[in-house]
Amino acid sequence: MSYQYQDQGERAAVLQKVRRLVVKVGSNLVRETPAARTGELIDQLVALRERGTEVILVTSGAIPLGMNILNRKNRPKDMAKVQALAALGQCYLMRHYENACEAHGFHCAQLLITAADLHNRDRNLPVTACLEALLEAGVLPVINENDSVSVEQIKIGDNDTLAAMVATMLGADLTVLLTTIDGFHESGKADGELGQRISVIRELDDRLLAMAGSTDGNPYSTGGMITKLHAASICTTGGHALAIVDGHDFGNLKRFLEGEDLGTLFLQPDLSHPMRSWQRFLAFFSEPAGSIILDAGATDALIRHNKSLLPGGVLGSSGTFRKGDTVRLVGPDRTEIARGVVNFSYEELAKICGAKTSELSSRLGHPVENTEVVHKDYLVIIK
Ligand code: GLU
Repeated sequence: MSYQYQDQGERAAVLQKVRRLVVKVGSNLVRETPAARTGELIDQLVALRERGTEVILVTSGAIPLGMNILNRKNRPKDMAKVQALAALGQCYLMRHYENACEAHGFHCAQLLITAADLHNRDRNLPVTACLEALLEAGVLPVINENDSVSVEQIKIGDNDTLAAMVATMLGADLTVLLTTIDGFHESGKADGELGQRISVIRELDDRLLAMAGSTDGNPYSTGGMITKLHAASICTTGGHALAIVDGHDFGNLKRFLEGEDLGTLFLQPDLSHPMRSWQRFLAFFSEPAGSIILDAGATDALIRHNKSLLPGGVLGSSGTFRKGDTVRLVGPDRTEIARGVVNFSYEELAKICGAKTSELSSRLGHPVENTEVVHKDYLVIIK
């Protein structure tokens, strides 16, 4: 079974290793009484910081707080109006966080992130370095998506995903999503009814994905169970755990971190070789310029035997990639199994698909130095 209803020591095993923690708080937990709620949350984070845990906060709430300030009941359809609400509400939200931190004698700092800051290596590295510098200075980083400059087509879209991406960038040990539900539940008997809470998930399989509804339809937030499972899949593939915990009472964060069987814990697979930082970038942040289709033998050689991809295992490709670009490596059924840096352009690859290594020079009409299509040192398995 890929999941269980009770903790059997999994929380203790994960929690003893938590040095760096990303906490994400959903809009619905702060929007009604922001001054009080941000204060309660910061009280909890202080206790963790005092124990030596490095904490990064990802917070939603800018758009709903903007709606409150302007007395709007419904989220506007017009994108410019949503952007304006975010600009307004973000400022107000941060004022409360900074007041709460100051009351404890430290400061927080705001980072507003766009999708391009994550996907572009020249931007991702400085953002990561900035976050590291803030942590080193004892400042609490408070992150939200930059909703005022991100239009729909290029948005990250929800803060569950943003939290998972930030945690992956920073090599965090655990991400906790504080939300309005007490964990991931099995589907109940009647349509829409919640079944039993699942305590620990070892592997996110299709059955679990089918149990998650889409967004929760709330006018104030964008996340639902699907975005939480997506976040869990990013974190666990990247090598760290994620938990969904009920944040109506922020004291649940402490109880969860002390090992109480609350919420749902998604375990990372047992990784003897955790991903290095460039592999995490390749797997989660890079934007592939095309796809290469592998035959069954090459798929197996990559996944199970840590081999390079040779031309003989290539069935075809799509996209107009150049040598040095990032590409998706997909199996015969077209599911993505890996990403890597390709040694040939798409035109060259078309000439050498299925060829033996000894045939490459004659097919291409020039000597070939690197005979691998993707070398194993430049690829990362993500299946
Ligand atoms: N960035 C949005 C906000 O601050 C929230 C996105 C989300 O709830 O996932 O309002």
